[in-house]
Amino acid sequence: MSRVYNFCSGPAALPEAVLVKAQREILDWHGVGMSVMEMSHRSKEFVSVLESAKQNLIKLLDIPENYEVLFMQGGASTLFAQIPANLTPGYDSACYLDTGVWSAKAIKEAGKYTKVNVVASSKESNYQTVPALDGLKIDESASYLHITPNETIGGLEFADLPETDLPIVADLSSTILSRKIDVSRYGLIYAGAQKNIGPAGVVVVIIRKDLLARSQESLPTTWNFAKIAENASMVNTPPTYSIYLANLVFEWLLEQGGVEAIEKINVEKARRLYQKLDSSRLFANNIDPNYRSRMNIPFILADESLEKAFLAESEAQGLKTLAGHRSVGGMRASIYNAMPIEGVTTLIDFMNAFEKKYGY
Ligand code: PMP
Repeated sequence: MSRVYNFCSGPAALPEAVLVKAQREILDWHGVGMSVMEMSHRSKEFVSVLESAKQNLIKLLDIPENYEVLFMQGGASTLFAQIPANLTPGYDSACYLDTGVWSAKAIKEAGKYTKVNVVASSKESNYQTVPALDGLKIDESASYLHITPNETIGGLEFADLPETDLPIVADLSSTILSRKIDVSRYGLIYAGAQKNIGPAGVVVVIIRKDLLARSQESLPTTWNFAKIAENASMVNTPPTYSIYLANLVFEWLLEQGGVEAIEKINVEKARRLYQKLDSSRLFANNIDPNYRSRMNIPFILADESLEKAFLAESEAQGLKTLAGHRSVGGMRASIYNAMPIEGVTTLIDFMNAFEKKYGY
């Protein structure tokens, strides 16, 4: 068996130790004689897995008691609609910050439910920077302010939060658990699992409890945050195996020393790759250096005609999925928590050899 370094933006690489443990437990979980996949979601065994996942996430992110953790389905894209559907009744509008492709998608879906007020946009810069966060024209009577602190396609990340009394709603799909955050500053955090949490199929929502009162009885039950909270994420069958694997990732992360420890490694991985890009005559990253993503690092080649060779030769070396998103082209290395530092140094070594081979 040979494992590759997988730079896919999602579904993304999982820690090898997690896959090995899942393999060990696949036929017989903890002596029960069956797989977690085969268990009733209401069995005491699965309920214990779900509760453990919840408690481990609470520990990892230091989630305060006035927040609920929900495990949902439909991905972050469904939440683009579920969030305004739950949070806007009784309000005239919602505020959105536009920093890239994913914020734009969230804005489009929200527009189906409420008046959207885009408080600032960096579209004019081709999304290569983040609008100044101080002095945003935020309508303080709106239902919430939505932000996308890591734009997975553009490779743009910002850690500061705008000053506002509105609940801040954040799509952390591609940055959750990669860096320390203060959950108490957010009204709602959501993240699809398939990058830093586990396999696709489950999406995590962390919501301040007072916001649950906004969910109206008329909502579909499976969309109703208050009902999902009341029923401990079990208004219907949850994605049991994805939740089990997410919990194995949480346990792995705790063994690594938690978010603070992994953040140090993430900083170092990104530093090395950006240093390579900034000192190269062939490769470059065009994002404002103040807002470069630690997780998703897009880069271009000075000679576009070398792109095909770069992808073919990197793939042959076991460096997989380095093509950029189809909408922007170029290359992209996604280096989430599960990417070991050796993966990044192997990529840099490959880039050095590639430059030499093609005369750069
Ligand atoms: N938001 C962000 C920041 C993402 O990166 C993605 C997926 N790449 C999504 C939302 C959409 O996630 P899903 O495909 O799970 O709906």
